[in-house]
Parts: sequence; C-alpha cells; structure tokens
Amino acid sequence: MQLPKSRRRQKLREKKCQYPGCGKIFFGIHISKYCPEHRQDRYRIRKRTKPEDVNIKNQTFKHSYTEVVTLVMDCALEGCDHQFEVKVYPRQFIYPKYCPEHRNEYKRIRHLQLIGREDLIEQMKSESESFELDAIGDGLDENNSEGEAEDVGIVDDVA
Ligand SMILES: [Zn+2]
Ligand SMILES: [Zn+2]
Repeated sequence: MQLPKSRRRQKLREKKCQYPGCGKIFFGIHISKYCPEHRQDRYRIRKRTKPEDVNIKNQTFKHSYTEVVTLVMDCALEGCDHQFEVKVYPRQFIYPKYCPEHRNEYKRIRHLQLIGREDLIEQMKSESESFELDAIGDGLDENNSEGEAEDVGIVDDVA
C-alpha cells in the first residue's frame, strides 16, 4: 500500500492560538500554533537556558567509566597550561572546563588581558550574556571605558 505522495495540500483548519492568554481562533495549517499576530517575531517564546548551563564553565565529557576515576584535565582557557584533577563519575558527563583558578570569570578576563586576547574576552562575554538575555542586543552595551589611557612607556626621543 502506498500513500499518494503528491497532493500534499495544506488544509487550513480552525486552530486556537497557543500563545499564553490569547486563545484566538484562526485558520492555519496543522502545524500552526499561533494566530497571525502572535506569529510575529517579537512574540516568539524563547526557551531560556539555565544560566549555569553546560559549556560556559563546563564541558561535556563523554566517557564510559563504570567506577569513579580521577583524571587530569587541561584548563580550557587560551594560554593557560594548568592542569587539574577531576573526579569522573559513572554516567555523569558534565565537568569543569577550567582549572580551579580560572573558574572565576573575572580571573579568566584578567588572564586574557595579560596575554593580549581581548577578542576572546568579547567572545566569552557574549557567550555568557546570550544565556541571560534574549537576543535583543541592539548596541546597548557600548562599554567604551574612556580614560583608559594606554601606558606605553615609549617616549620619542626628539634629539
Ligand atoms: Zn494569539
Ligand atoms: Zn587555567
């Protein structure tokens, strides 16, 4: 038995808008969930990720250990060669990604400043922000900290 493949006409049917508090009846194809108004982008309900969600401070470490083992891992921070011990538990796959010192965001930023990787700081900040805010970022955070005169110790010798 074969189902006819063509004829995939999307029948419009009466649907009830699923937007919280709306419930308006509209005509839509079977997968439509929202009335035309609530289909607009600004109403889109975004799933919030938990702030302490994986892969910012943690990493997913796939393993198949069946008993607790202690492993030595490398700090994931660019330019840090510290290693740290991690106790790996069976069926637990989320582990810290930075050495104890760099589990603190401030310290990571300091470190990146020292090695001159401002680009990675920006990246890190945007990653952690996107977990707290919805992506509405409209150039609101112009952190142009003035008065941060660079202390360049070179004086032109006009001689
Ligand atoms: Zn609606
Ligand atoms: Zn480190």
